[in-house]
This record gives sequence, structure tokens and C-alpha cells, in this order.
Amino acid sequence: MFVMFKLSKSIGRLPIKCQNEQQGCTATFPLSEQYLHTSTCPFEWLLCPQQGCGSRILRKDAQAHAQVCEYWRQLCPMGCGTLLNHTNQAKHNCYRELQEHYKTQRQMQRNIASALRRKMQRMQSRMAHMTRQISLICESLELSENLEEEEEEEESPGEGTSTGRSFRVGQSPITRNSSSSSSS
Ligand SMILES: [Zn+2]
Ligand SMILES: [Zn+2]
Ligand SMILES: [Zn+2]
Repeated sequence: MFVMFKLSKSIGRLPIKCQNEQQGCTATFPLSEQYLHTSTCPFEWLLCPQQGCGSRILRKDAQAHAQVCEYWRQLCPMGCGTLLNHTNQAKHNCYRELQEHYKTQRQMQRNIASALRRKMQRMQSRMAHMTRQISLICESLELSENLEEEEEEEESPGEGTSTGRSFRVGQSPITRNSSSSSSS
């Protein structure tokens, strides 16, 4: 028994080579430390932790692989909820996205405001046009009223005769016609 115990103890102290020697590990250590070494050995084969990848990578290459693994996924560390991959990670920027969202909103508001301004300008010009027309109508009404008044009061010979004649013709064409025919 004592011999067996001594033997196992000396076997435990025996320096052994790392089982990953083929991959390039040159470490040697006592057998009792094998587990400790294997759990940290840079030449240990590992499976890529990304779902769906299944690549076998040496521990020392794990970080480099994560940079290029097409199955690499990670939630945005800023907490926006976007699932990042290598394609959208470079473009993803929470702050920039917020800024762009804000910009498009502001642009939309500007568009609405300018559309309203254009509409108001159109309405104003239409109103100005209507005001001009109304004032023109008012002027012509006043003018004709004045003319009528002038005609009634003064009967100026220049204008009065022409308008007066047609007025008279309209009122009593028969008498005038008969009188003119009788005279000629
Ligand atoms: Zn090793
Ligand atoms: Zn991978
Ligand atoms: Zn984000």
C-alpha cells in the first residue's frame, strides 16, 4: 500500500506534455496540474459560442474569430434593443440614429410650415386680387352713379347727347322713328 501511494504521488509529480502539443502547445507540467492548464491552454480546441456557427477554433484565436464570425450577434451595448451583427454594427450608432430621426422630423415640420406659408401667400394674393376687383367694381359703380347724377343734373352736351339719345330711343323708339321718317 505504501509503495502504491508513493508511486501515485511520484506519478503525480511526473512532468507531462500538454495534450495540445499537436496544435502547438509546448507547456509541460506535473500531471496533477493538467486540469488547471487545460482550462486555460491557448491551444485548446473550442466551439464558437455563437449559435449556428459550429466552428472549431483554438482558444487563442477565439477573439479574432469573433471579429469575423458571420454568426456573431450581440445586443447593442447602449441598450436600444438593436441586435447587432458585423454588417450593421459599423453603421449602428444610437446617438446618430436619434439625431437622424430628429432631423427628418424637423425637415417634415419645415415642409409643412412652408406648405402652409405658400398656401397663405396664395390666399393673400387671391384676396388682393379680389380686393382689386371689388374696388374696381365700386369705382365703376360710383362712376356710373356719378355719370347718372351728372346726366340728370347737368345734361352736358358731349356725353349727354349720345347716352341721352340711346336712352330716349330705348324709351320711345316709335315717336322718334316716326318723327324722323316724317321729317325726311
Ligand atoms: Zn497547452
Ligand atoms: Zn463563429
Ligand atoms: Zn443602439
